[in-house]
Amino acid sequence: MAEVYNWQLGREQPYPYEREMGGRQFAAVFNINRCIGCQTCSMACKSTWTQSPGQELMWWNNVETKPYGGYPANWDINTLKLLAADGDQGSWSTSSATEVSSPYGTYDGPTIFEAGESSPRPVGYLPTEDDWKAPNTYEDHATRFPKEGVQLPEHEGWFFYLQRICNHCAYPGCLAACPRKAIYKRPEDGIVLVDQARCRGYRKCVEACPYKKTMYRPTTGTTEKCVGCYTRVEGNDPLTDNLPTETRCVAACVGKIRLQGLVQTEADGTWTEDPKNPLYYLVHEAKVALPLYPQFGTQPNVFYIPPRWVPRPYLQQMFGPGVDQAIDNYTRPSRELLAVLQLFRVTQRIIFSFDIEQGDPFEEIVVGGERMTLYDDTAIGRDEEGN
Ligand code: SF4
Ligand code: SF4
Repeated sequence: MAEVYNWQLGREQPYPYEREMGGRQFAAVFNINRCIGCQTCSMACKSTWTQSPGQELMWWNNVETKPYGGYPANWDINTLKLLAADGDQGSWSTSSATEVSSPYGTYDGPTIFEAGESSPRPVGYLPTEDDWKAPNTYEDHATRFPKEGVQLPEHEGWFFYLQRICNHCAYPGCLAACPRKAIYKRPEDGIVLVDQARCRGYRKCVEACPYKKTMYRPTTGTTEKCVGCYTRVEGNDPLTDNLPTETRCVAACVGKIRLQGLVQTEADGTWTEDPKNPLYYLVHEAKVALPLYPQFGTQPNVFYIPPRWVPRPYLQQMFGPGVDQAIDNYTRPSRELLAVLQLFRVTQRIIFSFDIEQGDPFEEIVVGGERMTLYDDTAIGRDEEGN
């Protein structure tokens, strides 16, 4: 057993294995506010990776409608119940927040590695076959039908789309649970893979992944999961001159809600300061993108810009205490943030750094009662070679 540092929780936590940190890490930011629920991402992934016999119910990328939808059904509610099994719901102390190593404060509740009697082995559960049958039940169902229009900041009746892939976690629950050591995290990019030759289909990873992103394939008797389109991320695609390329779900996104790339990490798992990397900028500088259920303790690497119209308590249990600041910063973006948001889906090449060429002011608008000046700025994204 090891004690590892989880910067999203602002504290150390147990993990079954020592982890070699420091290196590149696959990461992404999804802007929930822009998603139109078209499922193009889901189909792009399915037609690339899961179109064979035994994979019919397998959606490595899915988009579910919250609060009622889920794939598999109720995955998050069931895991939250396991964490609170002894009555400890956990809470956040935000007074200890620092810039990089604990930007959201400190979480004092149990993670999946602390909740069970066999800690640090993760707690989990196995969804039923019925739970996996439909990827988008309750699609577009709102909590209620509002009688009179809707207004920000919170709608009376609401729903939102939650886009989900494997989080290629820093402390993967799936890897921690595998008795065959068939799951590994690549040092070159942090992508988490299942070695199909070692897997025996015990489904311990399916039980342990709190996001339920490992899936059993009955025709092979093994588990499969999102592979982070590693062949593209490695830069083996002639389409982008053999430079690191974004995943299929990201490249296909119609709503331009996704930005995926690689960040550098330190030996303790925190992100190396790099404010010109657009992902680092969105997570650590602009503070608009937050991890999904950070209290699970796997330190996920997909971050979300939370939806502006949803009641804050719901979002806080889902994304932690950074929600108010993230929504405020997104609603009244700085000049720099507005520029970086334009980089979503402008190229299939992974953007390693950005620059902003400042232009003239061209319009005054009012946002939430405050005046805001818009500028004719140009955002420039640069690939691995600086082009
Ligand atoms: S999201 Fe689940 S499958 Fe993906 S790395 Fe994390 S624990 Fe493993
Ligand atoms: S392709 Fe983009 S806009 Fe469409 S459902 Fe997927 S994430 Fe949302």
